[in-house]
Amino acid sequence: MAKQFDVIVIGGGPAGYHAAIRAAQLGMNTACIDKWLNKEGKPAFGGTCLNVGCIPSKALLEASHKFVEAKESFADIGIVTNGIDIDVPAMIARKDSVVKNLTGGVAALLKSNGVTAMEGTARLLAGREVQFTAHGGEPESLQAEHVILATGSVSVEIPPCPLTEELIVDSTGALDFTAVPKRLGVIGAGIIGLELGSVWRRLGAEVVVLEALEEFLPVADQQVAKEAQKHFKRQGLDIRLGTRVMSSEVKRKKVKVDFKQDDGDKSETFDAVIVAVGRRPYTEGLLAADSGVNLDERGFIYVNDLCATDAPGVYAIGDVVRGPMLAHKGMEEGIMVVERIADQKTLVNYDTVPSVIYTYPEIAWVGKTEQELKSSGEKYNVGVFPMAASGRAMASNVTEGFVKVIADEETDRILGVHMICAHAGELISDAVIAMEFGGSAEDLGLTMFAHPTLSEAVHEAALSVHGHAIHTANRRRRKKS
Ligand code: FAD
Ligand code: NAD
Repeated sequence: MAKQFDVIVIGGGPAGYHAAIRAAQLGMNTACIDKWLNKEGKPAFGGTCLNVGCIPSKALLEASHKFVEAKESFADIGIVTNGIDIDVPAMIARKDSVVKNLTGGVAALLKSNGVTAMEGTARLLAGREVQFTAHGGEPESLQAEHVILATGSVSVEIPPCPLTEELIVDSTGALDFTAVPKRLGVIGAGIIGLELGSVWRRLGAEVVVLEALEEFLPVADQQVAKEAQKHFKRQGLDIRLGTRVMSSEVKRKKVKVDFKQDDGDKSETFDAVIVAVGRRPYTEGLLAADSGVNLDERGFIYVNDLCATDAPGVYAIGDVVRGPMLAHKGMEEGIMVVERIADQKTLVNYDTVPSVIYTYPEIAWVGKTEQELKSSGEKYNVGVFPMAASGRAMASNVTEGFVKVIADEETDRILGVHMICAHAGELISDAVIAMEFGGSAEDLGLTMFAHPTLSEAVHEAALSVHGHAIHTANRRRRKKS
């Protein structure tokens, strides 16, 4: 007879393992199935995020940032260094050990919460039957009251640049270069292109980023995007917009990339190329024809606002469903689904999903951009506070960038907060909390912030919405559609 569970979660990435742990906490007999094999060929929970995504990329971003800081700005603060060097294999090895600790930690958390962790591949059949095949094992049948699909996403590949070991790589390969490429091509100036392009630029590579769109970072507020472009240019990232990659050729360990721009056909030769043109939902082999689960026209598992699929008792969460492909979005969906199974009323607020790009300065935002508000005709006020006016930023030698608060002209409710500055990824939480509680710019302005902190810039930007900022000329702007 098939083994019975209350909940089977397919996929042990951030979305899946959060769902599994919370389900077990709520008293459900839960299994979490994951097929990931790490570089050593060993099973590893944590999905893309822990194995080849958020965590390893941040380990390299942090290390490479420290290297540049030591090399270029320690002298500003009176620290004398006599030659700074980089040991790429040691940096990669440390990144690998962080990953190993964390993926082992997830397996331990599953176990300590009483989740049955199963290493292998799952396939959903009709009637919530799950066929499980352990690595190197035979298929066995499992049955569940509820099934949660959390199979994530994979990198998009493009025909003109097929992946070629160590020469044309996706984001995973770019986390494992054993030496700094002299000339590095990056296709796509999105989040991965900018983050991983920054890592290797900081370590000494000449980096050329080829982006198809004419506009830089259209998802971000354009005032922030323009400021970012200025910093990236100064750092030596050569970003070429409006570029159509046509073909590539690998010859004698070099990659020649041919592309078109408005002013003609061009080519560049690189020691390595990173293809970072987006990710797509991953459902390969997951769904039997009669599973009852449908995909949408872009290949995402079709779900409603509560992450229910078209098959009764089957849910889907994380990168494999609509919405931003961000770990924290999937985590909250996982919690919502299992708490709803347990008859709680949990919801995910998709209007307050924060986005962070971990470049230097960091870029972070929540809510609507100014260009979105303009096009929808909403009336709003804007307050901006430059980090150059922050005492803590000056003391810490991180005066780049600004914080911008946008509030509804009539109700003063915060509609969006956008920032580019050191630690923006941490500061954005202040804005998320304010927006989650339906706060106004005045509410943020009336809140006491510790001094001296970088987060005072959020306070001052909120005060600036009404012309009350203390440490800067108020750059309040009233916008009417
Ligand atoms: P995944 O993490 O992809 O996990 C899915 C799991 O399901 C995998 O382990 C897979 O092996 C397993 N699986 C798939 N099919 C089956 C099957 N049939 N049977 C069993 N198991 C199966 N997001 C952020 O929020 N912040 C960041 O800083 C960030 N940085 C990133 C950097 C990079 C380089 C990349 C590539 C991504 C980054 N992301 C970041 C995105 C983030 O990694 C994803 O949004 C997140 O991992 C999605 O979680 P998930 O659980 O939906 O899917
Ligand atoms: P992306 O969607 O952020 O950027 C892809 C870029 O490639 C876009 O600017 C697009 O216009 C461009 N592009 C597409 N096709 C092209 C082509 N043929 N030639 C040139 N340019 C082309 O995707 P990504 O950077 O690959 O990242 C994938 C996802 O992973 C992101 O959407 C994000 O959700 C997630 N992620 C998040 C973080 C973070 O939160 N800090 C970090 C990394 C990845």
